[in-house]
Amino acid sequence: MADDGWTRTTCPYCGVGCGVLARPVIKGDGPAESAEIKGDPDHPANFGRLCSKGAALGETLSLGDRVLTPLVYGEVADWPTALDLVARRFREAIDAYGPDSVAIYASGQILTEDYYVANKLMKGFIGSANIDTNSRLCMASSVAGHKRAFGSDTVPGTYEDLELADLVVLVGSNLAWCHPVLYQRLAAARETRDIKVVVIDPRRTATAEIADLHLAIAPGMDVLLFNGLLAHLSAAGRFDQSYIANFTTGLGDALDAASGLMLSEIADGTDLPVSDVATFYELFAATPRVVTVYSQGVNQSTAGTDKVNAILNCHLATGRIGTPGSGPFSVTGQPNAMGGREVGGLSNMLAAHMELGDPHHRKLVQQFWQSPRIAERPGYKAVELFEAVRAGKVKALWIMGTNPVDSLPEADRVREALDACPFVVVSDVLRHTDTTAHAHVLLPSAAWGEKQGTVTNSERRISRQRAFLQSPGDTKPDWWQLCEVAKRLGFAEAFDYAGPDEIFAEHAALTGVGNDGTRDLDISAYSAISSVAYDALEPFQWPRAHHASPSMTRFFANGRFYTPDRRARFVPTPFRGPASRTSDDYPLVLNTGRVRDQWHTMTRTGKAPRLMSHFAEPFVEIHPDDASVAGVAASDLAVVESGHGRIVARVAVAMQQKRGSIFVPMHWSEQYASAGRVDALMIANVDPISGQPELKFTPSRIRRYAALWHAFAITTVRPPKAVADYWAVAPLASGGWRVEFAGLAEQPDWEAFATTVLPDPEQQHVERLAYHDARAGRHRFALFADGRCAGLLFASAAPLAISRTWIVDQLNQEIAPAVRLRLLAGRPGTDAPERGRIVCACLDVGHNEIIHAIVAKGCTTVAAVGACVKAGTNCGSCRAEIGRLIHESHLEKAV
Ligand code: SF4
Repeated sequence: MADDGWTRTTCPYCGVGCGVLARPVIKGDGPAESAEIKGDPDHPANFGRLCSKGAALGETLSLGDRVLTPLVYGEVADWPTALDLVARRFREAIDAYGPDSVAIYASGQILTEDYYVANKLMKGFIGSANIDTNSRLCMASSVAGHKRAFGSDTVPGTYEDLELADLVVLVGSNLAWCHPVLYQRLAAARETRDIKVVVIDPRRTATAEIADLHLAIAPGMDVLLFNGLLAHLSAAGRFDQSYIANFTTGLGDALDAASGLMLSEIADGTDLPVSDVATFYELFAATPRVVTVYSQGVNQSTAGTDKVNAILNCHLATGRIGTPGSGPFSVTGQPNAMGGREVGGLSNMLAAHMELGDPHHRKLVQQFWQSPRIAERPGYKAVELFEAVRAGKVKALWIMGTNPVDSLPEADRVREALDACPFVVVSDVLRHTDTTAHAHVLLPSAAWGEKQGTVTNSERRISRQRAFLQSPGDTKPDWWQLCEVAKRLGFAEAFDYAGPDEIFAEHAALTGVGNDGTRDLDISAYSAISSVAYDALEPFQWPRAHHASPSMTRFFANGRFYTPDRRARFVPTPFRGPASRTSDDYPLVLNTGRVRDQWHTMTRTGKAPRLMSHFAEPFVEIHPDDASVAGVAASDLAVVESGHGRIVARVAVAMQQKRGSIFVPMHWSEQYASAGRVDALMIANVDPISGQPELKFTPSRIRRYAALWHAFAITTVRPPKAVADYWAVAPLASGGWRVEFAGLAEQPDWEAFATTVLPDPEQQHVERLAYHDARAGRHRFALFADGRCAGLLFASAAPLAISRTWIVDQLNQEIAPAVRLRLLAGRPGTDAPERGRIVCACLDVGHNEIIHAIVAKGCTTVAAVGACVKAGTNCGSCRAEIGRLIHESHLEKAV
């Protein structure tokens, strides 16, 4: 920690891995529950930038709903009791049913040191490879594609390449929302030089706002497009024959598999205009410095590995890899997906980028660990793992830092699996998640800001996460929990670490064992790192075999791949469509993904009111034509169904959505909405090589939710969940909650409902106003306590035409008696502007304010809008959305 109280650490969200400066805000005698946050200007990933999520980290640190002591069968317990039980149940299962009867399901959120000991315990000491992670859902196809082509799981490039390229192709990547700071780096570079951007995505996402060309490809058709590109590059004489001859093998077979289709056939298959496909191919062919960025839209597919290899084939054939401004670039969703890969956190990996299937590697690792055994075959991959749990093959399961009841496909089956599992341990920071509800033992983990360790970002850069808060209650880091159980299982010597620095040093040493340049990952320069040096560790990119090693920021410009003959492999990728098909019953393709201000299942971002102001309830985005066919309209509630489940979400009609496809965000859990768990709908089809599930293609249908009444409330107390058939809740900056309700039955007794939703705050001078129009089915209530607005409730038989942004601004505001009645109007008077949905969460600027700046004030650029209403002038995450509003306003004018 620096003298001024700031601690250098790393953002715990996406794979960009931004450096963060954090300083606790101390109020009173208790532990700090918030912090000042700013970007670290010296961190090479972000150079001081932060997106909306990173900037709001200080608002996510409250101890509300933290689990602070171990809970055993719901009862408070001490650590020895809880750990003894975990070890005993794991030992009993292993003794009775063998090592494969136990498993760990970890997370790209945990730190490399946590991952390292979890993997060591399972593979080296328990002797099973049943450790997998939610990173399987994120980038397993990239891992598999890299290994097939390069012989190693290597990301060849560096973030700077996006700024140095002349063409950046973004495939299945909504960079603007999912990796915002990387997007901002690209957008800023584009302002200084001509970088062409092509976005390949069925949806016109916020990212497409900087695209020179947006290819709204049919879902699942990427292999067809890139096979066509490979054939085009061949026909156009754009192959780098020297690179191919010197550093690769297998081009002939890959080209055979890619060839044979006319441009018009590719355009037909991908549902793109012929001219757009031709433009893309010619642009790629004519531009030597090309970076192709790909993410979940590529990986989350039953052909995900082939999609990755189809992209890699094009880069290998043109020799565009490992040089400044060129290369394929997989960006990971999670902050430490890469660190997990490095230590073997997937069930088909060993450790230190060594292979489970290689006897020599197994011997190296076992000797290094001095372990009694070593796993010899892959364990269950994530989807298989929970099927095995459900089938009774796994008797004891330890879930760390993740929420599979919401995030895995066919999520209701996952819930059933946990219900059926004889023993479930969950390590988490929260008391209540949809997964902790199934824990027999809940272990309280230290949270971000409280623990020490390292993470690796998407460009292979290892950075420190540093503690700047004291761990509250009895919380402990995950590595400590694992080591204590390992000791109780009889492996004390191998898990006797004084701290994460010793674990990191051991991991670093293992990367150098038997390496001699045969493996990409080598950070053995740090194998003797001291505690002091670990504390001071600066971000660095691997490899780093020696401290004096020359900087190696890129791989493969001169070959030296990690295959036996050191040549890259072209991989034939014959086209396969998605595993499921739409039908008359399920005519729409359901796609999932992130929204700008939320993270995973909202266990952290859900605590930050400003992050909930962008979207406050689950929604389904649908093209106007499909909405018309389905009989749903904007702001309706709709039921979205697949063969596996149903959700209820608010309808957002959007031209950006491709006809025939709908989009639902992945984030909502039962903690925030009655029926928003979209992964319950997803079919658990997986890529046969990577095991990654196809989360972007689920046949589905949509219909209007037959609500007989609707209600909206702001309240100081969170209402009980069972008060309505449909509800969605979000915290407010004023300290209360906003809640949407709807009901399928006749209207409730509104007086009783109001009493439940707007409880008397037990203060003096309470005043309650009510308005009823029984014939129209309209009911409104306002509660005032000590002169302040303590709650408002609006109910109606029809969807509510009220100003929610204005209403939420009223909570806890002092309201003069003379104007209290006006609150029941549910919107500002004609003299006050209606701000509309919040677009700029940092500065609380609404949609209507931005439109006013564009239309009435004549702002034609994002910068001009910023100068006029401040939107987009803080973290910048909303700039793409502001750009879209400018773009759409001009389109409307043209019409
Ligand atoms: Fe965190 Fe945003 Fe940076 Fe991702 S881009 S690491 S979410 S600050």
